[in-house]
Amino acid sequence: MLKTDVRYLKGVGPARSRQLSKLGIETIGDLLLHVPRGYNDRRLITPVQKLVPGEEANVSGTIVSSGYLKSRKGKRRFEAILKDDTGDLKLTFFHFRYIADKLSTGTQVIASGKVEIFGGITIVHPELVFLDEKTSDTRFVIPVYPLTAGITQGVMRKLVEAVLEMYASAMPEVLPSDVLESMGWKNRGEIVRKVHFPDDPEQGERARRTLALEELFIHQALLNHIRSRASQRVGIGMIPPDGSLAKFVSGLPYSLTGAQQKALDVITADLGRSVPMRRLLQGDVGSGKTVVAAAACTVCCKSGYQAVMVAPTEVLASQHYRTVSLMLEPVGIRCGLLTGGTKASDRKVLLESLKDGSLDVLIGTHAVFEDRVVIPGMGLCIIDEQHKFGVEQREKLLSGREPSPHFMLMSATPIPRTLAMTVYGDLDMTVLDEMPPGRGITTTRIMNRDARNEVYQFLMDRLVSGERAYIIYPLRETSEELDLKDANTSFEILKRGPLGDFGIGLLTGAMKPEDKLTVTNRFVSGEISVLVSTTVVEVGLDVPEATIIVVAHADRFGLSQLHQLRGRIGRGGRDSWCFLMKDKGCGAEAARRLDILASTHNGFRIAEQDLKLRGPGEVAGTRQHGVPVFRIASLIDDTDLFMEAANLANRGSFLKLIKEEYGWRFRGLDIPEL
Ligand code: ADP
Ligand code: MG
Repeated sequence: MLKTDVRYLKGVGPARSRQLSKLGIETIGDLLLHVPRGYNDRRLITPVQKLVPGEEANVSGTIVSSGYLKSRKGKRRFEAILKDDTGDLKLTFFHFRYIADKLSTGTQVIASGKVEIFGGITIVHPELVFLDEKTSDTRFVIPVYPLTAGITQGVMRKLVEAVLEMYASAMPEVLPSDVLESMGWKNRGEIVRKVHFPDDPEQGERARRTLALEELFIHQALLNHIRSRASQRVGIGMIPPDGSLAKFVSGLPYSLTGAQQKALDVITADLGRSVPMRRLLQGDVGSGKTVVAAAACTVCCKSGYQAVMVAPTEVLASQHYRTVSLMLEPVGIRCGLLTGGTKASDRKVLLESLKDGSLDVLIGTHAVFEDRVVIPGMGLCIIDEQHKFGVEQREKLLSGREPSPHFMLMSATPIPRTLAMTVYGDLDMTVLDEMPPGRGITTTRIMNRDARNEVYQFLMDRLVSGERAYIIYPLRETSEELDLKDANTSFEILKRGPLGDFGIGLLTGAMKPEDKLTVTNRFVSGEISVLVSTTVVEVGLDVPEATIIVVAHADRFGLSQLHQLRGRIGRGGRDSWCFLMKDKGCGAEAARRLDILASTHNGFRIAEQDLKLRGPGEVAGTRQHGVPVFRIASLIDDTDLFMEAANLANRGSFLKLIKEEYGWRFRGLDIPEL
């Protein structure tokens, strides 16, 4: 019944149902859960004298005159004058078939609507409550809905009223009854009724919060289900020979941070169990996730299995290959690199050595998931910085194999805890909350564009002493509409200037993979000292000698993006500088973003602010992450409910409930098959 198409409702034809679908309303259930964005409490009365044009208001008074008028074009309208103790307000109607008769002199009404200036102060087509009419359906608190073109508040209210009457009492229960009771409700029908037509706005908000909890509970129950199903899979208990991990660790040029050691302990324990690991290793940029991954590979390979490590780009994959093989080869673990750019002859050799087991760790891009890549002893799969790896893809990767390999996702996206719960709720989480010691200090400066010569002078002084710099542009190529410097043009200009003497290279997303690799390698080796680029360097590039990043048109970038960019420096022992170049026309919000960035290095705080400024869909590509679009719960205002929902979902298994509710409520998401 909840899944019944709204078209079957009386008064909903093809046109109306098209309008409704723009609001995400396809079914009766959608309509019932189309919660108001607020309420108009018509008992809150504004005196005529205090009315402000452009604002919504309720005005209470007596009609003192009314009549028909004609515009210059000959169009008729109906006007009534409403009087209270402080003054007169005009009520204007262009459609007046039913209303004119009711607004005779002496009638007492509350008129609600937006105050406008239209030949004096007026409300056009106000909603009316007739005070002397003692009809039972006179509601003082009315819902205000999100709308779309063609649908008015009145239309929406009538539709909702109709479905409430027919369906509310028949809604199946979702939240456990003791929870309902403790929140002051008898049943779900009551909550849904009161969210639309509460006795007062507070009750409406209480109902909304209950429905938000319900929504989060269903989502959390689904994640629990996926998690528990995964834990029933047969995994591989990996117990490496004594001392092999210690040997790896002692071979490192540094000692592990406390956070790295703790993460490694947890991961080693996971790997030792015959239940497949499903873990998120979250750590801010520069926190040192790679070495933890390499240690996990050590446990895996020394136990006789093979490991796969996947990066989102060729540049990152080859960087991983370089650093990880440097760590692993000394302990006798063989690594190979496979990307889309790998030569056919090399690939053949690689695939052979995977098959015969002589290759232990395969590092690469998505190319490693191709069918022809056969890894007979695959025991561990690590995915780094992979934004587009949603719940469903994780399922696909892991469900096909028996025994199921261990899985670890590494992310530098410092998403707030609430968001993490919704995105990664089916994974266990470990956080690297400590930076490796001995890092220099990073200073962030917001500079006006006029000051760029100063910045370049500073930059050259550092380059002289052997340091390296990134210069980042928002665009790759010139744009007709936007008066912005782009990477290509600027590179050509800078190359011919004094920076050219230090060796300067260009890295953009459109370049051929091998060219990207060449220029990155030249920057890594120090052959060139300046890398001009776009946001392609945003993720993961690790060059400890780089101490300066100049971001042109910094106000064009998002907060999390800038944080990731800044994470490219401050990776060595020397002090670093981040220059955020601000345009003259930079708006207030963009300026606020830059200030936030200059004031903190804490990625979690930055993400939290980002969430507030931009909303969850925009935060660090969460949209691609497959963050469910909650229609009732707010990731910002309802954070306390997330924990509550998780606790409720832990009470038991709710498979039947999930099957009934999940599909229609979270439509459009990648939904794992149940
Ligand atoms: P991210 O978490 O951003 O992927 P990386 O793994 O690239 O970070 O590490 C950042 C830098 O810190 C690298 O140059 C790495 O060699 C260095 N590093 C990692 N762990 C330590 C440590 N415990 N002590 C000192 N330096 C470390
Ligand atoms: Mg990394």
